[in-house]
Amino acid sequence: MRPLVMTILILISVAVFTRTALKRWKLMKAARTPVDRSDHPWRRFRNVLWYGFGQARMFRYKGAGVAHAFIFGGFVVLLLRALILFARGYSSDPGFGFWIFDDGTRLGNAYLFLKEAVVVLVFVGVIYFLRARLLAPPKRIALSAQGIVILCMILGIVLTDVFYDATGHIKKMQDEHQSLVFHAATPVASVLSFVLLPEPGSEEIIAASHEACFWLHAVLILVFLNVLPLGKHFHILTVLPNIYFADARGIGRLRPLDDIEGQLEREETLGVKTAADLSWKDVLDLYTCTECGRCSDHCPATITGKQLSPMQLTIDLRDHLVKNQARILGASESAGAADDATDSAADDELQLVPGTIQPEVLWACTTCGACEQECPVFISFVDKIVDLRRNLVMEQGEFPAQLQNAFRGLETVGNVYSFANEQRADWAEGLDIPLLSDKPDAQILYWVGCAPSFDDRARKIARAMASLLREAGVDFAILGPQEQCTGDPARRAGNEYLYQTLAKSNIETLNGYSVRKIVTTCPHCFNTLANEYPELGGRFEVVHHSVFLAQLVREGKLEPKHRCETTLVYHDACYLGRHNGVYDAPREMLAAIPGLKLVEAAESRDRGMCCGAGGAQMWKEEEPGDGKVNHARANQLLKVLPSGGESRAVSTACPFCMTMLSDGFRDQGHDDVQPLDLAEILWRSVNGPGQEAAAADRASATN
Ligand code: SF4
Ligand code: SF4
Repeated sequence: MRPLVMTILILISVAVFTRTALKRWKLMKAARTPVDRSDHPWRRFRNVLWYGFGQARMFRYKGAGVAHAFIFGGFVVLLLRALILFARGYSSDPGFGFWIFDDGTRLGNAYLFLKEAVVVLVFVGVIYFLRARLLAPPKRIALSAQGIVILCMILGIVLTDVFYDATGHIKKMQDEHQSLVFHAATPVASVLSFVLLPEPGSEEIIAASHEACFWLHAVLILVFLNVLPLGKHFHILTVLPNIYFADARGIGRLRPLDDIEGQLEREETLGVKTAADLSWKDVLDLYTCTECGRCSDHCPATITGKQLSPMQLTIDLRDHLVKNQARILGASESAGAADDATDSAADDELQLVPGTIQPEVLWACTTCGACEQECPVFISFVDKIVDLRRNLVMEQGEFPAQLQNAFRGLETVGNVYSFANEQRADWAEGLDIPLLSDKPDAQILYWVGCAPSFDDRARKIARAMASLLREAGVDFAILGPQEQCTGDPARRAGNEYLYQTLAKSNIETLNGYSVRKIVTTCPHCFNTLANEYPELGGRFEVVHHSVFLAQLVREGKLEPKHRCETTLVYHDACYLGRHNGVYDAPREMLAAIPGLKLVEAAESRDRGMCCGAGGAQMWKEEEPGDGKVNHARANQLLKVLPSGGESRAVSTACPFCMTMLSDGFRDQGHDDVQPLDLAEILWRSVNGPGQEAAAADRASATN
């Protein structure tokens, strides 16, 4: 009977699991957007080892990280134990097990000891999570009945395992008419067997309990397997592939959209309109979300009460996908068939925005990448959000009205400020900066960017930077009116067509001069030129000015000698730090300034919070919420600055952060906090504070 019952249970369980898993698989296959994740296999493999088996990101939250590691480690070790016990379904011999891991062998005893240790750790981990959910749930987590049930099932699995061994010890002792002994390989079960200490004549009860533990353990595992694909615990099965197939290029690079004109001609959907327009990896992401809330915990939009919560966005997309499974699969099967009218009607019904996702959710994202940095299972958000924006902008013409001005400026004059592009080099008047057209053999191109070219405050950054380059004897030139916006704001706003037009034009200009090394003062320009232009044929060595200036100081070409008696906090720009890993160079440069007292905010480096300008937010009104992102960020920085009476400053390495933080301090009555770019601070220290003003005065006089 025993083998028959075990076989029936396994067959039913596998059949139900296969049916559910097949449905999930079909949805992944139905996803239309192609993504290729066959690159960098070794890097991917390392990620699986480090972030999957090593749980590296989990420890960013210490308590939950350790508890999760206990449970994860337990699952890995107990997998073999489950196989051993299932094998015993085919023999009543207690020694019947799995190859060399049978009870009594040296390896078997070692494994049993390890198994007992992880059972204790799993028990501790589960109790930690139950306590955290029931008694003191963190704000980031929504209490779910399913989560509690799963934790109780895990608890049941480990308890039945230990009770199975404990009753096994007693049964063996009773069968052999011997005294109960302590088994060093199974200390927990041994102690438990002494606690249970059977009365004479309890043989039948013990035998029945032993059998009951066995079957309960087996049934719990099989039910557990089938509950997994129904909710967030599917991640137990999908997490390793999700980490392996994560975008190996890092956070700051958007998914390219190829052949837009061809797609327009063929009347294909641009971007993501329905769930069927996602990629298979997007769908795998949705299956893998553990609902831990870490992404939302660090999202500037969520923190300031906007409608956007990256966790909720993921859950809403996943629920939509599962709820509309049959219709999505039906629509996908009819795609390409003759009945275009049916396709388009199905698409309209399944449209994600505004049915499932509100536009305000999408337009609140600053593309800062904090969510992706925090997510322990490598779920991507920015690509999904921008793909949804792409459809709204390029296909449906629906986007915040203020973006229209930015798009128009970019289309007509190549900059978001809508100034005539001939004025691009006006900031340099009086400084005698050569144009690349006059000095095509210059070793360095200083890519100025739109803000330092046209914005009055940011122009001072360009002047300080150019003056420092001259001081250090760098052979450089600028493009002047030949420079156009890199296209970053258009791209992040979803206008990929406009981005590609600008990018291709810039690449043609740069390739025409054989430019090889570019220095930028804007992290957005830096990211786009360095990471996104190569996809369109523009391959250049690009350096952000923080790195370049730190190097000039290190080499002794610039000597910061004038004291700067101020307490200063450095703000990490998302597109420099999180997107490109530049954290040390700005700090190294600031540390070289005499008299400067550098302090660190608790939210710094890869935990630094966005200023609120990225993702094209700079060019539109902030979405409604409880507060403003730049105010929240200014408040974080204020916490580590002196409360007043002393000189205090914030250093930025991005002209847009400069604007947002200036407003953030001023709006909240802290006008005395000076926002300064790295180049400005270095210029003051190299030449003395008065020199900067003199240069500006000379420029004004020339004007
Ligand atoms: S990229 Fe930044 S703003 Fe956008 S969802 Fe992620 S954390 Fe929030
Ligand atoms: S997306 Fe990642 S960080 Fe956010 S809730 Fe899901 S698993 Fe957690």
